[in-house]
Amino acid sequence: MNTPARPKKSFGQHFLHETRYIQRIVAAIAPRPDEFVVEIGPGEGALTLPLLKAAAKLTAIELDTDLIPGLQSRAAPVGELSIVHADVLKVDFTAMAHRHGVQKLRLAGNLPYYISSPILFHCVEHAASISDMHFMLQKEVVDRMAAEPGSKVYGRLSVMLQLACQVIPLFTVPPGAFRPPPKVDSAVVRLVPLEPAQRHDADPERLHAVVKAAFAQRRKTLGNALRQLLDADAIRRADVDPKARAETLAPSDFVRLAKIAPSA
Ligand code: SAM
Repeated sequence: MNTPARPKKSFGQHFLHETRYIQRIVAAIAPRPDEFVVEIGPGEGALTLPLLKAAAKLTAIELDTDLIPGLQSRAAPVGELSIVHADVLKVDFTAMAHRHGVQKLRLAGNLPYYISSPILFHCVEHAASISDMHFMLQKEVVDRMAAEPGSKVYGRLSVMLQLACQVIPLFTVPPGAFRPPPKVDSAVVRLVPLEPAQRHDADPERLHAVVKAAFAQRRKTLGNALRQLLDADAIRRADVDPKARAETLAPSDFVRLAKIAPSA
């Protein structure tokens, strides 16, 4: 029997311990043995073991070396667990899918909150090789991801995520479900990458530049916020009012602006 590890703050470790939430997450994912499931940040295995039981085999990406031997021995009687010791931000999910001869991966994880946005942006880059993602995040982040134009929390994360995926918030998880409890509520979200026909065709770098500049100063009109990239006439040519503010634009408006923006 392994003694539980002391959670490390520097790795964003908050281990899930409430069975009822673990079961809800695994039921939402509902992994099948013919699927290639990848867990980000398995920790002590709260999700890994039930996922492994359902999927028979699983790949898990963990940065903290100290957790790996315990996880390996706990998983051995349950199924075939392959642990990749790496920073998830450096993992090429597209190459991983090719290497394993699968078209698409399913991603899951109770993410380390200190890098939740970088992980989301990284996964979006590989969206074409991912069939879905189920992530636990700060509730505030899930609210921003799913926010609609006009909402106070609608911003860069909402636009970039919604242009790549369907964002489906599932349920909230209270701090007491974790050891140690985080300071904030958490939530589980499902992300389903859009089909090729639904994806935008703007240059990703230009899109990033336009969205970043538009939301850098939320109170400014687009004419002002985008001054370095597009003048008022150009903004009008994209069928957008230069007097409008970024928070009122639909994600598709940013795509039209990106298409006429100069290269980054
Ligand atoms: N899945 C476990 C659970 O639910 O109890 C642990 C979740 S804990 C919030 C986040 C996990 O991600 C930890 O195991 C941590 O060591 C790992 N982690 C932190 N930074 C990481 C990174 N850059 N790449 C991969 N794993 C990371």
